[in-house]
Amino acid sequence: MPFSDIIGHARSLGLLSRSIALGTLPPSLLLTGPAGVGKRRAALAVAQALNCLAPVRGGQFPIDACGRCSPCRRIAKLSHPDFLLLEPGDSGNIKIDAVREALEATAYLPFEARARVVVVDEAERVLPEAQNALLKSLEEPPRATFFVLVTSQPETLLPTIRSRCSRVRFGRLAPAEVASLLMGREKMDAAEAHAAAAVAEGSPGRALERRTRGFRAAREAALGALRAAAGRSWQDRMRAAATLAPKTASGEREELATRIRLLATLLRDAALVGQHGADAVLANADLAGEIERIAPAFDAGRAARAFEAADFALAALRRNASPKIVAPWLVVHL
Ligand SMILES: [Zn+2]
Repeated sequence: MPFSDIIGHARSLGLLSRSIALGTLPPSLLLTGPAGVGKRRAALAVAQALNCLAPVRGGQFPIDACGRCSPCRRIAKLSHPDFLLLEPGDSGNIKIDAVREALEATAYLPFEARARVVVVDEAERVLPEAQNALLKSLEEPPRATFFVLVTSQPETLLPTIRSRCSRVRFGRLAPAEVASLLMGREKMDAAEAHAAAAVAEGSPGRALERRTRGFRAAREAALGALRAAAGRSWQDRMRAAATLAPKTASGEREELATRIRLLATLLRDAALVGQHGADAVLANADLAGEIERIAPAFDAGRAARAFEAADFALAALRRNASPKIVAPWLVVHL
């Protein structure tokens, strides 16, 4: 997984690549940002770029791994003896034994690599006692060893650990970036990928977690409700309410919540089209035509009220209200 295979994060990846090219990569790094945006992949890319036998120079990045040589492939498969990955075990935590074992390995020079890399994924799961053990190594990094801590919750790490590491921040991806990743890497079809991206909050990982739900159908139902609300026919609204309520044997509540979140993204897009016309950057860009048709019905005031209704409906679902009551209520209040 070279830098160039990672979608988005051009600035953060550029920073890492430049330091590797200049030989100034700090021995302890802390990669922070929302879960599921590609931080762990970036950590692997760092390990590969440090050890690649045929690095690519002067392309999109000052230096990047080839992705094909033996060290690159073994790092990607997590089977390189000088690449150590610590991640939460079955207990959900990273225990002191695992940390000690990894640190013992760093007492020796790398077996074959130019640089040994220890990646701690979900570093917030390192138990406090184990954090202290790790801290000692961060304070006196062994020769030719780099530590890369990856976390979405840096505030839960010991302040001493945070201050030892150079932080590189990763942000959320744009909906178009999430969609393109889902189409490319996950082979989703375009409509499914765009619908998933609209509620992914900039995190492909989050989109994949919710993957099985059928985003495309969910977004159709949400769009149907907005279309009906934009029209004048009361019967259409009632039919849309029936369509918005999912007909699944189980998980109805969570499914309706997904539909309402999608509805909110469509509503936001409609309000944006109202304000900025064709220049608006939409979460559901593939539905721009549909959104332009409903936008005139949702002026700023109505859009704001509809958002409130959607929030209220989501809160009601969290309090275990019945989807059969929440869906029609929402459609009436759009
Ligand atoms: Zn390589």
